[in-house]
Amino acid sequence: MSNSTEQLSNFIRNIIDQDIADGKNGGKVITRFPPEPNGYLHIGHAKSICLNFGIARDYNGRCNLRFDDTNPEKESQEYIDAIKEDVQWLGFNWSELKYASDYFEKLYEYAIELIKADKAYVCSLDAEEIRKQRGTLTEPGIESPYRSRSVEDNLDLFTQMRNGKFKEGEHVLRAKIDMASPNINMRDPVLYRIKYASHPRTEDKWCIYPMYDYTHCISDALENVTHSLCTLEFEDHRPLYDWVLDQLDTPCHPQQIEFARLSVEYTISSKRKLNQLVSENHVDGWDDPRMPTISGMRRRGITPESIRDFCDRIGITKKDAFIEMSVLENCIREDLDPGANRIMCVINPLKIVIENYQEDQEEEFSASNHPKNPEQGKRNIPFSNTLYIEHEDFMENPPSKFFRLSPGKEIRLRNAYDIKCNEVIKNDVGEIVELRCEYDPDSAGKNKKKLKGIIHWVSAKHALTVETRLYDRLFNVPNPAAAEDFASTLNNNSLVIYNDSKIEPYAKNISLQERVQFERQGYFCLDNKHTSESKLVFNRITTLRDTWAKIEAANKN
Ligand code: ATP
Ligand code: MG
Repeated sequence: MSNSTEQLSNFIRNIIDQDIADGKNGGKVITRFPPEPNGYLHIGHAKSICLNFGIARDYNGRCNLRFDDTNPEKESQEYIDAIKEDVQWLGFNWSELKYASDYFEKLYEYAIELIKADKAYVCSLDAEEIRKQRGTLTEPGIESPYRSRSVEDNLDLFTQMRNGKFKEGEHVLRAKIDMASPNINMRDPVLYRIKYASHPRTEDKWCIYPMYDYTHCISDALENVTHSLCTLEFEDHRPLYDWVLDQLDTPCHPQQIEFARLSVEYTISSKRKLNQLVSENHVDGWDDPRMPTISGMRRRGITPESIRDFCDRIGITKKDAFIEMSVLENCIREDLDPGANRIMCVINPLKIVIENYQEDQEEEFSASNHPKNPEQGKRNIPFSNTLYIEHEDFMENPPSKFFRLSPGKEIRLRNAYDIKCNEVIKNDVGEIVELRCEYDPDSAGKNKKKLKGIIHWVSAKHALTVETRLYDRLFNVPNPAAAEDFASTLNNNSLVIYNDSKIEPYAKNISLQERVQFERQGYFCLDNKHTSESKLVFNRITTLRDTWAKIEAANKN
C-alpha cells in the first residue's frame, strides 16, 4: 500500500499538524467514525473510515466506532453487526466501541440543564406547524407561542414527555436560539421528539429520543473527540454543533471539519436507496457483488487493500465530485496483478476437434502460474484432441483486424500448439456448434511463427464445468441518484451468468479466499454464497482492461 504520511497530506491533516504545533488538545488526536445502523456500509463510508482511522493511526491517536442510534424504527442489530464486520475487514480496529444510546441518560440531563438556563422549551405545535413557521432562506421564521413557557412548566412537561404521558407528536423539546437567524438550522431546532418505538439496545426504556444534531456534538464531546470529521452537508449544522456545546459544561469542545462526500459514477451511495434496491429485489441482498456496499465488494472479491488504496488516491477535499469507477478498478488490478495465479477458463465454450491429433492421445504442458513471478510455481495443463475455446474467439467471416480463429487462418493455443481451422459445423438452425481443426506438431511450447492470435483453451475431457458470473455497472447513467425514479436507470445486463464454463482441472485447488486471473478474461474469485462441493461459482472481480473508457469515448462522439 502506498501510504506514506506525506502522500496522504490533505487540508484536514494540515489543520491537525497546526493544532499539534500549537499544543491544542494537549497534542492528542481523537477521531470517531459514527455510522447510523440503518443499513450496510458503502464505498462512501469507506472514505470516511479510511480518513478517521487513518488519522488516528498516523498521529498515534485513537478512533472510536460509534453507532449513531437515535432513530429506533430504522435501526437494527443486523446492521450493527454488519458494520462492525465491515470496518474490521477494511483493516481497522476501533479504540472503543460506543453507542449514542449509551448517552441517553446524560443527554437527558444536559437537556434539563438547557431548560433550566432557559435555552430550551417544550413546544406544542405539531410538526407541520413547526415546519411552516420555520421561514425560508429569504424570510425569517415565526416564534412559537410556546417559546415563553416558564422554566418550571418546561421542566414539568419535559419530565412528563419522558414518562410517557403524551402521544407522539404532541410536544417536542426545542432549543431557544433565534427564529430570525439566516441559518435555518438555528431557528429553534427540535432537540427531542416523542417516539414509542422499541430500540435495539435500550428497548422500551425511552419514549423520547434526541435528534441527530443535539446528540452528535455531545457524544463527540463525551468521548473527548478532538476533530469531528463529517461530510459537507453538515457545514450549515456546525453553528448548531457549536451552540449546543457552548451552552453546556461538557468535557471538551471538538472541532467539526467538513470534507467532500464520495460519489462514484454509475452507482449510488445512499443507504436509503441501497435499501430500496434490496427490498424491491433488484439485487441479491446487500452483499450482491454489484452493490457498492463493503459487503458486496467483499463478495465480489475486491480486496480491502484496493479499497484503501482507492480512498488514498481520491484524497480529501472540500469540493464534491464524481469519481470514475475506473479509478477503483485500476486500484483492484494493481493490487491483484502481482499475486494472482493465472489459469485458463473458457467462459462461453465452443468445441473444437483436432483431427490430426490421435483420439486416445494425451499430453501435458507445463505452464507458469505467473509470468513475472517464478515463485508462484508451475502447473500442468492437459491436452487432448477435443478442446474448448471461447465462442467469441472464432468468426466465420471476420473483419480484417480479427486476429483470432477463422476458417483457414492459423492461430496459437496459449501454452500449447498452433492450430488452423478447416471446417465449421453447424446445427439445424445454422448455429456454429463445432470446429474441425489441425495442429502443427512442431509448434509445441514456442511461438516460432510469431502468430499474433493467441487464445486460451481447455481440454474437454479434463475440464471442470463451472459457473461464471460477469458483472457490469449496476446503472446505465453516471448519476442515477439524480434520476426521478432511480430504479428505472438500472442496467438490465449488469449480471450475465454462464453456467457451462470450462476450466482447467487445476481450479480444484483454488481456495475461497483466493483471487486468480482467468487469462484474457479478468480477475475472478469463488462466490462464497453460491459455491458448493458440487459446483464452483466464479465472480468476475474486474476485467483486465478498462472496457468502459472505449464505450464512453464512443458515446461522446
Ligand atoms: P447515507 O445517506 O448513506 O445513510 P449517511 O451520511 O447518512 O449516509 P451515516 O451512517 O450517518 O450515513 O454516515 C457515517 C459517516 O460516514 C458520517 O460521518 C458520514 O459523513 C460518512 N459518510 C457517509 N456517506 C459518505 C460518503 N458518500 N462519502 C464520505 N463520507 C460519507
Ligand atoms: Mg444518516
